[in-house]
Amino acid sequence: MIFQKERPDIIGYLARDVDLDKSFPRDLVFFEEIKRYLEKQGACIGAIDSLKEAWLEYIQQYPERVTPSAWCSECGRKVELDNAVLVYDAEGLELCVLDKECCVDYLKRDEFSCILLRDISSVILENLVEKDGFSKYDVEELEKQLKLWGIISLNNDKGTIYFIKSDETKEIKIGYTSGEVEKRLKTLQTGHPHKLQVLATMPGSRDEEKTLHEKFASIRLNGEWFKPHPDLLDFIATVKNFKY
Ligand SMILES: [Zn+2]
Repeated sequence: MIFQKERPDIIGYLARDVDLDKSFPRDLVFFEEIKRYLEKQGACIGAIDSLKEAWLEYIQQYPERVTPSAWCSECGRKVELDNAVLVYDAEGLELCVLDKECCVDYLKRDEFSCILLRDISSVILENLVEKDGFSKYDVEELEKQLKLWGIISLNNDKGTIYFIKSDETKEIKIGYTSGEVEKRLKTLQTGHPHKLQVLATMPGSRDEEKTLHEKFASIRLNGEWFKPHPDLLDFIATVKNFKY
């Protein structure tokens, strides 16, 4: 932070403040701790926003320095990732991160569901909007929070994962595009000797594409191409029938 104080933007402004504050605890390693410190010092919303921007820049540059961690919004304690859950209700109103102890009372009530924080993907976030009726704003705030906590990777750009089959060889490509799949298909077709067709698509990120490549590593041919093994075909059928 201190090295940023010459910058002319809001991050520089925050850095200069922090530099002047001789009691600023320099050993804090978590975003949430720094945020709470600043809030205790009476920092304004603008300063907290600058901190968020600065922190996102920092973890983008040094992803290995971030230990994913969560904080319970009920008791305020730091929660181990295995014990952190996202609790939400069927009405699309309540969306909060809790530890397992604090979520017990919520889950006694039928309208609440929960999901482990570490299982949250962009598909799940998208479903909170599409199926559970949460506002896009609420879900984006949650997503940002999870990024700041190091739980969601910053490279989790939302796009589309596609499964494309070569008609001749039956081989299947698992790929990712941030744009339109049809455009991607056209580009691929240009460099491919046989007719290609899209079998299925799903919302997803580059990270999720990588996870799929690992999942089907044993039937990988080369690059993003895979054998039309029944496991993969089953998976594609599931993707196809799932309502996103
Ligand atoms: Zn708690």
